[in-house]
Amino acid sequence: MEIKIQEIPPEGLLLSFEEEPEHWDLSERGFTINGPVHVRAKAIKHNEEEVYVRGAISAEVIAECSRCLKRFTSRIESDFHSEYVPRTAVQTEEERELVQEDLDVLFYEGESIDLREEVEGQLILATPMRPLCSEECRGLCPQCGQDLNLKQCACVQEIPDPRWAELKEVFKKKSSPN
Ligand SMILES: [Zn+2]
Ligand SMILES: [Zn+2]
Repeated sequence: MEIKIQEIPPEGLLLSFEEEPEHWDLSERGFTINGPVHVRAKAIKHNEEEVYVRGAISAEVIAECSRCLKRFTSRIESDFHSEYVPRTAVQTEEERELVQEDLDVLFYEGESIDLREEVEGQLILATPMRPLCSEECRGLCPQCGQDLNLKQCACVQEIPDPRWAELKEVFKKKSSPN
C-alpha cells in the first residue's frame, strides 16, 4: 500500500489497493479480518513534498457477539483523510511532536508513503468495543444460558435495577427462617 510521491501528477493520483489481512491485527478488539482489505484513495501533492490522501477502506470481519456469543460476519467501511509531510521537514524530535499535535500530520520516509499504518488505525477505530450480531440481539438468559434470539426460556426474567437491589436484600433477610 505504497504511494510513490514522484508518480503523483498535478491533478492527483487515483489508487486502488487490495491486500491480504496478515498486515493488520485486530485480535485485541476481538475481530478477525476475513479476506483482503480494500483501499481506494486519491493522493494530491500540495507542493513538492506535502501530500493529501483521501480514501475509503473496506474489509470483511468476523467477531463474537458480546451478548449471544455467536460468531458473525460484518463489514467495516471507513473513510479517512490524512496529510503527509517528509520526516526531514522537521529537525528535532521535539519539533516533530509539536507539528504532529498542532497540525495532525503524518510523516513519511524517503520517496513513498505507506498507507498501512493509517489503515490499521482506521480499522481499529471502526471496530466497536462490544461487538453485536445485531442491535436487537436479545443475548443469552443469565440463568439457563438459552439463546433468547432462538426461543424464550421458562426462567423469570428479572430486570436488574440497582435501586431495588438493597431493598430486596432486606426482604430476603426478613423472610429467611433463621
Ligand atoms: Zn448476538
Ligand atoms: Zn432461562
